[in-house]
Amino acid sequence: MTEAVSAIREMDTAIQRHQTLLNELGIAMSHTSETAISIAEFDANEKKLKDMEETMKLYVELSVNIKRHMETAESVKAAINRQREIHIVKPFEDHLNKLNKKDAAKEAESHPKLIDYQKKIWKAQYPNKPFPGEDDDLIITNDEIDINCPITKKQLVKPMRNMACGHHYEQSAIEEYLKSMRKHRQIDCPVAGCSKTVSKTSLEYDKSMEREVKKRAMSQRPDSEDEEEYTQI
Ligand SMILES: [Zn+2]
Repeated sequence: MTEAVSAIREMDTAIQRHQTLLNELGIAMSHTSETAISIAEFDANEKKLKDMEETMKLYVELSVNIKRHMETAESVKAAINRQREIHIVKPFEDHLNKLNKKDAAKEAESHPKLIDYQKKIWKAQYPNKPFPGEDDDLIITNDEIDINCPITKKQLVKPMRNMACGHHYEQSAIEEYLKSMRKHRQIDCPVAGCSKTVSKTSLEYDKSMEREVKKRAMSQRPDSEDEEEYTQI
C-alpha cells in the first residue's frame, strides 16, 4: 500500500468517525428539543428553558466544529488525490485554522438549527404569537398544517421536516426524491410554490409532527369505526 493510499484511508476514517459523532449529536439535539417543548407546553419553567437553550447552543457549536473537521479532512483528501501529497499534518492544521478564524460559538448563535429550536419553543409557549421578527402571516396554526406528504399525498408516518421552509415529507419519499434529483446542484422543495431548497442536511425527523398526525388520526377514527360496526350489523 502506498503512503498516499494509506493517508487517504486515514482521512476517510476521520470523516466516518466524525459523521457517527454528528449522527449521535443529532439524536441528542432532538431529545433536548423534545424535552424543552414539553417543559414549554406544560410548566413553562423559564430557568429550565434557559438551561436547555444553553445546552442546545453548545450542541450546535459542537456540530459546527465537527463539520469543520470533516470539511478539513475532505480538503486534505482532495489534495492527496490531486498531487499525491502525503504530508497531512500541516495541510490539515492550515485548513482547520482557516475555518477556525470564525468563532464557532458566534456561528452557533445565528445557526439555522438554533433559530429553528428557538422558534419551536416559542410556538409551544405562545401558540398564537408570532416569533419576534417574524410576520404574523407566516404563523401556521396546527389546523393548517398538512398532515399529508406532498410527494405521496398520503398521511405522514415518518415525517421529515425541512428546516429551510418547515414543510414535511414522508421519510422514504423525500429520500427517493433526493436520490432521483442527485444531478442537480440545488434541489427545490417539492411543495408547489415553495421557493426553498431541500437537502439531506436540511432535513430532521419531526417527532412532534408524528404526534400531531397520530392525534388527528385518533380524533377521526371513532366515527369511521362506528360506521364500520353499523355496516357489519
Ligand atoms: Zn418547502
